[in-house]
Amino acid sequence: MKTSVSAVVSADYESLLRSESYIDGAWVAQEAGRRFAVTNPASGLVIAHVPDMGRDEALRAVEAAGRAFVSWRQLLARERGRYLRRWNELIVTHADALAALLSAEQGKPLAEARGEVLSGAANVEWFAEEGQRIYGDTIPTHKADARVIVMKEPVGVVAAITPWNFPSSMITRKVAPALAAGCTVVLKPAEDTPLSALALAALAQEAGIPAGVFNVVTASLTSAPEVGEVLTTHPLVRKVSFTGSTEVGKILMRQSASTIKRLSLELGGNAPFIIFDSADLPRAVEGAIGSKFRNAGQTCICANRIYVQDRVYDEFARLFTEKVKALHVGPGDQPGVQVGPLINQAAIDKVKQHIQDAQAHGAKLLCGGGSHEAGPLFFQPTVLGDMASVMRVSREETFGPVAGLFRFRDEAEVTRLANDTAYGLAAYFYSRDLGQVFRVAEALEYGMVGINEPLLAAASAPFGGVKESGIGREGSHYGINDFINIKYLLVGGLSSPA
Ligand code: NAP
Repeated sequence: MKTSVSAVVSADYESLLRSESYIDGAWVAQEAGRRFAVTNPASGLVIAHVPDMGRDEALRAVEAAGRAFVSWRQLLARERGRYLRRWNELIVTHADALAALLSAEQGKPLAEARGEVLSGAANVEWFAEEGQRIYGDTIPTHKADARVIVMKEPVGVVAAITPWNFPSSMITRKVAPALAAGCTVVLKPAEDTPLSALALAALAQEAGIPAGVFNVVTASLTSAPEVGEVLTTHPLVRKVSFTGSTEVGKILMRQSASTIKRLSLELGGNAPFIIFDSADLPRAVEGAIGSKFRNAGQTCICANRIYVQDRVYDEFARLFTEKVKALHVGPGDQPGVQVGPLINQAAIDKVKQHIQDAQAHGAKLLCGGGSHEAGPLFFQPTVLGDMASVMRVSREETFGPVAGLFRFRDEAEVTRLANDTAYGLAAYFYSRDLGQVFRVAEALEYGMVGINEPLLAAASAPFGGVKESGIGREGSHYGINDFINIKYLLVGGLSSPA
């Protein structure tokens, strides 16, 4: 194995490292033997090869999920909850090995990877319980001899498509509520990070989750559209749950229109992070570091535009830059590392372009700005000051370790700037003025707002965006509703016979 962990974790890692897809309860290769390599972005070394599935395998997985749905939906919610609890326990038991695998294929520091695995497990634990609280309704009747009842039913087969930046928790956030609600799932993980998905499937199998209930179809970048087409057009698939870029979300939405599928879209963001005069400055600095540099800046909710009010701008810039300079960059499996590599060369190129564009428009480089000596996919944590709205960072996700500081005058100006984007996923602000807290929270056109807090995600809270950041919510009781159909029963003829 390629990470420096203990012998016990190492053996566990090997046992969870799968090189086949998981369809209908069996580990299968692509029929013609087509495979693609999964590499460690820190070292460039190949970790494994997995099947490059296409249309036929996607069809098989959908049909298997369709067959499994018939009996899975019939189980008591408590029985499905039991399977999910066993799955959760296994994920927790194997957390170190899963973290090593995640860090190896994705690059994030081991401690962060472990945090992701455990938050992913928390989704499973939470929905194991929530599945038992999918209550229906009775409504006061409009006919004296009839009763109005609302039943809740699973939507059916769910197609889940997930990104590389959170290869474990993005999966459980979809699969756990779907399974708890009585749906079955076909998952297509990202090309860069299929190993965490396969390891989760191995543990689902060990937990006894029946064949066909949870299927994982791995595919390369080239085959993804072919697999995606089956998942978004097959009549058996009743819902598509996607996390990824807005661009791909639009394609999948168009394709899903052909059979009017239910859709959940967790798409891109461009989060404003606002520091008002009244903020607790050291807390705001810590928050901005956590929000911006977690996962090397590759999170959909990470601060992309840091707005600092005039009076505290210079002090914030000084404190923040000092901390950024001290961040420890290196391979995720090395002790003390806080910022790992970026996922691929395209990510490095985008970061460089954003920096060049900002500098060409007058931004000042406060630290970093170039490649990092740790390797080709490492980049120096960077701070740019004197940012302006004309710059690309204002409009696009940077998805890398680059923090741009914008100066603003007042509340009205900053709320206008914060909302001046097609995205509406997460926003943050720091203020100790209670009136301002409510005014700004209500004015921000975002699905989630962190107030004096940078970490938003939790199994029990509704995660999701507005505008071009998507539709639907994940997590919480709102999240499970996305996997449920409402059925209205009108039961008539109830008056006593004459
Ligand atoms: P992406 O390119 O949109 O890919 C996401 C997934 O879609 C991958 O599995 C990808 O497969 C697949 N895919 C791409 N084209 C497809 C097609 N035509 N048909 C079917 N599947 C297709 O996004 P990414 O670069 O992996 O992830 C980063 C993006 O995700 C960022 O924009 C980030 O903001 C967003 N994100 C949002 C949230 C949220 O909760 N809102 C959370 C995390 C990330 P391949 O890997 O094989 O291309």
